[in-house]
Amino acid sequence: MTGAGPTDLAAPGARPSAALDIARDVRSGSVSAADVVDRYLGAIDEIDGELHAFVTVLHDGARREAESVDLKVAAGGDPGPLAGVPVALKDNMCTRGVPTTCSSRILDGWCPPYDATVVQRLRAAGAIVIGKTNLDEFAMGSSTENSAFGPTRNPHDPARVPGGSSGGSAAAVAAGLAPLALGSDTGGSIRQPAALCGVVGMKPTYGTVSRYGLVAFASSLDQIGPLTTTVTESAVLFDVIGGQDPMDSTCLERPVPRTVSALADGVEGLRVGLVSELVDGVDGAVEARVREAAETLAGAGANVEEFSIPEFRHGLPAYYIVAPAEASSNLSRYDGVRYGLRVDAETAESMNAATRAAGFGAEVKRRIMLGTYALSAGYYDAYYGQAQKVRTLIIDALAVAYQRFDVLLGATTPTTAFAIGAKVDDPWAMYLSDVCTVPSNLAGHPAISIPFGPDDSGLPVGVQVLAPALGEPVMFQVAAVLELGAPVLGPPRVHAR
Ligand code: GLN
Repeated sequence: MTGAGPTDLAAPGARPSAALDIARDVRSGSVSAADVVDRYLGAIDEIDGELHAFVTVLHDGARREAESVDLKVAAGGDPGPLAGVPVALKDNMCTRGVPTTCSSRILDGWCPPYDATVVQRLRAAGAIVIGKTNLDEFAMGSSTENSAFGPTRNPHDPARVPGGSSGGSAAAVAAGLAPLALGSDTGGSIRQPAALCGVVGMKPTYGTVSRYGLVAFASSLDQIGPLTTTVTESAVLFDVIGGQDPMDSTCLERPVPRTVSALADGVEGLRVGLVSELVDGVDGAVEARVREAAETLAGAGANVEEFSIPEFRHGLPAYYIVAPAEASSNLSRYDGVRYGLRVDAETAESMNAATRAAGFGAEVKRRIMLGTYALSAGYYDAYYGQAQKVRTLIIDALAVAYQRFDVLLGATTPTTAFAIGAKVDDPWAMYLSDVCTVPSNLAGHPAISIPFGPDDSGLPVGVQVLAPALGEPVMFQVAAVLELGAPVLGPPRVHAR
């Protein structure tokens, strides 16, 4: 992105963007990155005590990075499309010399010796890492209550959860504590908290964003993606972080589609499938908003038709086999030797067991046991094998759907934000929060959640647009139209001034 500032690339009438305004002003030299960073650090210091969106705030690091951006501008250089823009990172992305906790006690004291590829790309674009955000331990959960450091609160109602597992990133953006954030999405962890906090959350096509330096949960499902206030910001951030990386062998070896240029294309003549399984059975208020979104697209010239994908009903059980199976293997590396916590004991084996017993929380232990069971001899075919077959059925069903439609539409979540504590003792109820989001992960496809007005209590509702692999441009095209047509959502109760 050169020449025109990113703001000039937004769709006509697009919502105001703090991030793109900052980048424009810092690049032109009319505002210093140092002042921007101080303003955001001040807001974090003032209100994050109530929200707990951050586990680490990088006061010194962010100020240092801001100075180097300002020096570059003063020397006549261009620091990049995100010059001086503070970004909050989910704390499962590695930052060199800065604690990376995954909100787990087991990583206590561990500082990675390297930066994740996304962190390198953010810096190369002039962005400033302002802090690391809270998550469900190892990204396992849908409410951010599984954090070893305590829950994050929803800025729209601090008695409610922000969703999860990227709840800290979603709350930080919603409350104006960071203009942009990154999260990771294995079964919905970007889109679900985005929906519950009233922000835009996007999960890219598997393989478009490097996972190098993302602490692995379920490697065949994990993707990093943006949490932002606006659709344009989401596209800009995706264009910055996406693209091949020799450090991640699962990155696609082809160019990632650029998305910013598609934002103003409109939906005239596009074929949109409203997926019955993603509207029937969700809360009435959520269903009503999704149907309004469908009408908005029809009003803008799209051909909208309701369509059933019965295979989606099997997505959740398949996900809750595949994800724990991969997690049980990925988490075997936390052995008390290589990272963080060690609980000393007589033998290596008992040290290993004692460390894991003390270091992992209840949900992580549950996943390791579920996954180990599903992979064990005698049960492998019945569980893991079956789940993989369901995965193939979902991929095939989506291939059929995309012969008829350019994009699919549905709810992001079955409910709006629930009360803190409401589901902590009922894992299955918690797992059901992901029922609308897991199909895209199982298929490796992109999907985005856009805020689409409040429910009857004023809580944010998210609408989800799903697209085929590498269909990010058409997905953003539709998202931009929905954003313009969305009913007004009131400001969060807790917000930076
Ligand atoms: N809530 C889902 C889970 O607990 C998804 C988590 C995620 O996407 N990281 O597994």
